Amino acid sequence: MIIVMKPNAKKESIRNIIQIIEGKGLTAHISDGKEVTIIGVVGDKTKLQDQNLEISEDVDKIVPVTESYKLANKKFHPQPSVIKVGNVTIGGEEFVIMSGPCAVESREQLLETAHAIKKAGARILRGGAYKPRTSPYAFQGLEEEGLRFMKEAREETGLAVVCEVTSLAAIESAVKYVDMLQIGARNMQNFYLLKEAGKTGLPVLLKRGLSATIDEWLNASEYIIAEGNPNVVLCERGIRTFETATRNTLDISAVPVIKDKSHLPIIVDPSHATGVRKYVKSLAMGAVAVGADGLMIETHPDPAHALSDGPQSLTFPQFEELCAGIRPLAELMGKKF
Ligand code: PEP
Ligand code: MN
Repeated sequence: MIIVMKPNAKKESIRNIIQIIEGKGLTAHISDGKEVTIIGVVGDKTKLQDQNLEISEDVDKIVPVTESYKLANKKFHPQPSVIKVGNVTIGGEEFVIMSGPCAVESREQLLETAHAIKKAGARILRGGAYKPRTSPYAFQGLEEEGLRFMKEAREETGLAVVCEVTSLAAIESAVKYVDMLQIGARNMQNFYLLKEAGKTGLPVLLKRGLSATIDEWLNASEYIIAEGNPNVVLCERGIRTFETATRNTLDISAVPVIKDKSHLPIIVDPSHATGVRKYVKSLAMGAVAVGADGLMIETHPDPAHALSDGPQSLTFPQFEELCAGIRPLAELMGKKF
């Protein structure tokens, strides 16, 4: 439940209420808005039944939160969250593009890509060092060597870097090299991994599961935030449907739905959503128009020879064209890019 205080409620009343909540073994989360303070209560709220908090003259109302996710819920935190990744902010005024190869393949490939995407306007370099491939015989990633190249690319270009982690060992390595951890679609409900990623305190890019509902996705984000790590960015990357013309079906409505239900930023990945290079730009434009906070776009110096996801990867000129197309649209949506 949330306790909405009256405008200009006395600090002392707020403190008293927090004391009552904590005294019952529950947790209070404070959201200090411009006008009103909201106290979110996490835990067994029946313990507060005998407290009659409504009668405090500074309490405006008490609203039950029926959704199972609380900390990710907009009712708990009405202002949009702005997440810092290196020197980039996601969820605020900036429109943030993350780009790079599906898999880090070599030092040269990554550095060349990092320079090209930076020139076009991307702020964050992506690159997989641990690849969750459908086939066990497909390229599985360079692992720690790939992470070292990511760090080198960060130092050389000043871009922030994000890398997917698929195990606790990968998390333990990645924290030494990257600015943001990515939890991929296949691990969205790997609750152990979510908790371990939460414990690092690093920003986490949480991709939507292949067949996950928005409710399940927000509950997954709750696992990370419940570890004391509020730095979660959601990524819509397409879901499984009966349609086979594209690799997945981009659920563009996820953007306004998430904005309605949660304070977390959301970006869109049209590369994995379509699996087809020629459709990526149109869906990227659509994502900007529905209010996404950013994009994730796969790029490669030579997509025809990419070790992973070549058919959906853009060449550098195609990526530049995409960025140029998005710029006026992002500005129209009130974002800086
Ligand atoms: C990726 O970003 O490279 C990736 C594997 O994406 P997803 O988890 O969305 O399939
Ligand atoms: Mn990929």
